[in-house]
Amino acid sequence: MINNTMKNYGNNRSVIRDLFEFGNQRKAIVGADNVFDFSLGNPNVAAPKEVNETIMELLQTKNDIYVHGYTSAQGDAACRQAIAEDLNRRFGTSFRKENLYITCGAAASLKITMTALYAPEDEVVVFTPYFPEYRVFAETSGYTVREAACDPDTLQIDFNTLTQALNEHTKAVIVNSPNNPSGVVYTEESIAALGKLLEEKSDEYGHPVYLITDEPYRELVYDGITVPFVTKHYRDTVVCYSYSKSLALPGERIGYILVPDEIADSTDIYAAVCGAGRALGYVCAPSMMQHVIEKCTGLVSDINEYREKRDLLYNALTGMGFSCVHPDGAFYLFVKSPVDDAKAFSEKAKEYDLLIVPADSFGTPGYVRIAYCVATDMIQRSLPAFEKLAEHYHLK
Ligand code: PLP
Repeated sequence: MINNTMKNYGNNRSVIRDLFEFGNQRKAIVGADNVFDFSLGNPNVAAPKEVNETIMELLQTKNDIYVHGYTSAQGDAACRQAIAEDLNRRFGTSFRKENLYITCGAAASLKITMTALYAPEDEVVVFTPYFPEYRVFAETSGYTVREAACDPDTLQIDFNTLTQALNEHTKAVIVNSPNNPSGVVYTEESIAALGKLLEEKSDEYGHPVYLITDEPYRELVYDGITVPFVTKHYRDTVVCYSYSKSLALPGERIGYILVPDEIADSTDIYAAVCGAGRALGYVCAPSMMQHVIEKCTGLVSDINEYREKRDLLYNALTGMGFSCVHPDGAFYLFVKSPVDDAKAFSEKAKEYDLLIVPADSFGTPGYVRIAYCVATDMIQRSLPAFEKLAEHYHLK
């Protein structure tokens, strides 16, 4: 006997991976320039130059053990110190290195945090649309997952659906802003109201309802929009961060968990985070990347490039008659399918070599996600194909 749950996760590849494979097959037939792959959230904008400079300097000036050796399980002290100082400088907080645990990216941050917080019968609430891996991480940790649909017009938090999803078994609510897949940034009022509601519910249930804030897109916001810093609005918040998007380093696997002193049971939670990282076999995050982060935390890839891509695609698609909430952050457009069945819409788009992701697995049937973190000239070349797709559905 083997683990059937794991076998099923292995066999049922995500729809995004399937599109990616389809794209590779089509590229071999029609040429790479004629396939328009908007399926993956793989940043196309380069990492800040300081990242590669730091790597070169490390290789030239430090010994192999420093660059490639194990670090302490919770992460190199200098790296954690640099992150704490950067957060304090930017958000007026007073975190210490003891509040930080360095991870292999946001996926690890989330899985470790969920494992650390879990007790039997616990539930976790996610807002739809949501990053599909939340369900994988939560269910394999033992949680029952409850979905709270966002407002269909704005894709902001809907407090009615949220209230219905909460109950005395709720251990945590996961919030992701800027959001994958919608690109929406939850407003300061909304985050403040969320904090207030969770305070009331924690009192009512007699235990803390934690907020897990998943923030890989924190710095990817446009037009002067600010992302509220969630720990300021709700005490019992655990921050799961990643440099995958802000520094364009998704393959390097580096991020952190922040457990503030103020949070209920802070010392125990930090210990449980260390224990969960150990139990899940992480050992430590990549040491060379920890040294890079020590020098580069706070830097961001060129936001203007993303903004230009967003404006180009958003203006073109809405001009063709597609309907889409204006995305203030991340690098996704969340487009309403012109037919109820978004899978059929995505299949039709494939006929024009447009690879766009049906959002059913994000908990929101009837939408597709278009990742615009791709070359700008590919976006330009794709527009005639989108035009044909719009004509097929008589959008104008
Ligand atoms: N959370 C969200 C919302 C994401 O979009 C992603 C990746 O796309 C992750 C977590 C995982 O990020 P990482 O590559 O840092 O593990």
